[in-house]
Amino acid sequence: MILDVILDPILDLILDPILDRRRVTEAHMPRSTNQPRSESTRNPANITRRKLLAGAGAGAAALLLEQNGVRAQPSQARAIVFSHATVVTPDAVLEDAAVAVQADRIAAIGPTDSILRTYANAEIYEGRGKALVPGLINCHAHLAATLERGFNEDFGFPNSARLAVRPASLLQGEEGALMISVGALEAIRTGTTTIVENSAGIGRAAAALAQTGLRCVFAESARDSENVAGPMSPEGLAKSEAPKFSAKLRDEGLQRINDLFTAWHGAKQGRVSVFPAAALAETTSPELLRAVRAFAEAHDLGYTIHLSQSRAEVDFMVRHHGLRPPAFLDKHGFLGPRLFAAHCRYVDDADIALLGRSRTIVSHQAAMAANRGVIPPIPALRAAGCPIANGTDNNTNDLFEAMRVALLTERIRRDDPIPGLRPQPEDALEDATSGGARAVGQAASLGSLEVGKKADLLVVDTLRAHLVPAGRIVSAWIHNGQPSDIETVMIDGQFVMRNRKILTVDEDRIVAEADRVGRRIWKQVQAAGAIAIPRRPRSR
Ligand SMILES: [Zn+2]
Repeated sequence: MILDVILDPILDLILDPILDRRRVTEAHMPRSTNQPRSESTRNPANITRRKLLAGAGAGAAALLLEQNGVRAQPSQARAIVFSHATVVTPDAVLEDAAVAVQADRIAAIGPTDSILRTYANAEIYEGRGKALVPGLINCHAHLAATLERGFNEDFGFPNSARLAVRPASLLQGEEGALMISVGALEAIRTGTTTIVENSAGIGRAAAALAQTGLRCVFAESARDSENVAGPMSPEGLAKSEAPKFSAKLRDEGLQRINDLFTAWHGAKQGRVSVFPAAALAETTSPELLRAVRAFAEAHDLGYTIHLSQSRAEVDFMVRHHGLRPPAFLDKHGFLGPRLFAAHCRYVDDADIALLGRSRTIVSHQAAMAANRGVIPPIPALRAAGCPIANGTDNNTNDLFEAMRVALLTERIRRDDPIPGLRPQPEDALEDATSGGARAVGQAASLGSLEVGKKADLLVVDTLRAHLVPAGRIVSAWIHNGQPSDIETVMIDGQFVMRNRKILTVDEDRIVAEADRVGRRIWKQVQAAGAIAIPRRPRSR
């Protein structure tokens, strides 16, 4: 789904990234309980929506934790050691092991006793009954689409329900950024540490998203078709004409990419990066394809596009360009190992060969694909040479669930002689972690618990009725785990959630605001016309 339509009417939330850098540093700093409380903490009712999204009120969460005798954040100078834990590394699952984190990096992994001897002054995070796993990497999200939860999942793609009024058109002021913040909170709680937000106009919500503490890739997308604005539908295909491309639209999109890159790439001590994106095969000219790739190469970035996500898209490309979407991209030099193409649901053998030969990465949104009634040919893409990463797409931002659906649907799609043997949960975890790290161009620093890598990790409470006994913790967790098992999320060496408390933004207020806005908007949508739900005939 393309979000220029969703984001257009909203937001003037472009905050100075330098000012914002100072603010996040403050939010991450341990505070003394003697410090005067800020105005917003003293009088929460006075928090404006802008202040709310910028993290006001999160300091209160940090204070509460400190009052219980626990530091909210590790200090730069002092290491933190997660002790006596089960540690999931790429090569082995270690028992009674410890992970030492110094500043933003994993400094050591080993037997608890020896790590504690080496880091005698470290703060201890007691890990008995806990598992440490690498944070998940979501390579394809449209966070603002949280607005359409409970609607957009059930009408095919593109959405075939004809609403009298588009919900996104009813967002006001900073409500788009609010939807992005609530989606980001869901992502954190479900184990995501890195997220690729794919839309047009990310600058308007960039500060709010960065404030959540997530490691972000802003994939700012451009299109230059004048007469195709979004994903092709069967009706759109029936009345379609040859695409007309606009140099003005192209220049505007490339300017947005360049502006966002200048303002945000490398911000938050490198926690934010900016990639260029072409929105869709059906809205992109050869010139724009070449420009997006050239920008990525000039700045050593990845880049992305939606690819082969519907039959209507494939038919449109064949009708008007004489080529299926992957062949069109190949002809104009767009395929390659920097590209992570989202979806690849409707690809034939020749498409798969082209994608594999070019080592194009495929971002697989298994749960959204299943929603749309399709299982992409991931086994064939993988066999052809495409690295696989995972994403959520819209409405949900729960990559943990998407990873589980990826495992289950790939088993169905493979139809092996012994069905249910491959992929294994360890393989699914690899796609959702190191596969994602490769897609975002950070394989050397993200994607696994290894010494020298960034401290992006989850603490999973394994003393739960659905996780004990566990023959293999990775298998038990992926098959049976629940998001609420995740008690702590560390990103870049900072606690973004600790003991199930979000520390970067005021979660309760953001959720309450999002609920209020959502109720208002859906009431307006329903007042404009009933939503026809194509249910089966009811038995009586
Ligand atoms: Zn998408």
